[in-house]
Amino acid sequence: MLNPEAIHRLRLEGAYIHASEHFFSFAPYMPTPTLSLDIVQDLAKELHGKSAAQVLSLLASRFADAIAFSTSFGWEDQALTHLIFSQDLPIRVFTLDTGRMFSETYSTWQQTLDKYKKPIESFFPNTHRVENLTTTKGIFSFYESVENRQECCAVRKIEPLDRALERMQCWVTGIRGDQSDNRAAMRSVEWDAARNLVKVHPLFDWTLSDVKDFIKNNNIPYNPLHDRGFVSIGCAPCTRAVREGESFRAGRWWWEDASKKECGLHGTNTAHAEHIQTELAEA
Ligand code: SF4
Repeated sequence: MLNPEAIHRLRLEGAYIHASEHFFSFAPYMPTPTLSLDIVQDLAKELHGKSAAQVLSLLASRFADAIAFSTSFGWEDQALTHLIFSQDLPIRVFTLDTGRMFSETYSTWQQTLDKYKKPIESFFPNTHRVENLTTTKGIFSFYESVENRQECCAVRKIEPLDRALERMQCWVTGIRGDQSDNRAAMRSVEWDAARNLVKVHPLFDWTLSDVKDFIKNNNIPYNPLHDRGFVSIGCAPCTRAVREGESFRAGRWWWEDASKKECGLHGTNTAHAEHIQTELAEA
């Protein structure tokens, strides 16, 4: 729930405040750069120095009924799932079942359900779009070009993600800063201009060792592919184990130029987002 000062500021900016005042939206449902920057800055300051458990707890109370965490059942996501479920936090947990996942990932999903007895929402791609894609381009079109790969990710990941995040104001992810150069340039609290929400990465400053220790110490189920050299696990045809000395993201879309290795889920690289990140860096 927003504090009175924040609500007052939003009203001054011409924002529409929902009757319950448990969530806010901006007429006409588009943020102004100043307003979104204020929110991100305030939140970043408030969350600074807090533990991941404290961050999640604070976000759950701040964004009641409008906060969701996306999991793909990797190490980081399992750590966050544990923190959310073991603290009984009112944060929706969802996954994107692309239809191309490893059987080990499905097993980890079921083990997580068995351990915590909490729901994990599943979002599947639009049937007609998948049918059209595979009918017109075949099953492995993503190997043929970056454009084809991005098309497949758009159908199997982006569209279901956008549905999962409808009406959400806060999106929690398992991103860590040292996973790639792209991610190192992110911040632990960001404004996702495309989806009109605040995005928070509670494990942003954790190292991989921190994550592995946390998993081990709390007896959290994890994907057995991690023990076989898979550090970042996505769809089966597009993920491989990494070799000694390779970067964290080297196993994703390994046939492509390294600079293009994001699927669009975390693409906040719009001019608007860049403006906000610059302002945050200077704040
Ligand atoms: S990771 Fe591969 S299979 Fe999965 S949606 Fe993207 S291109 Fe398609």
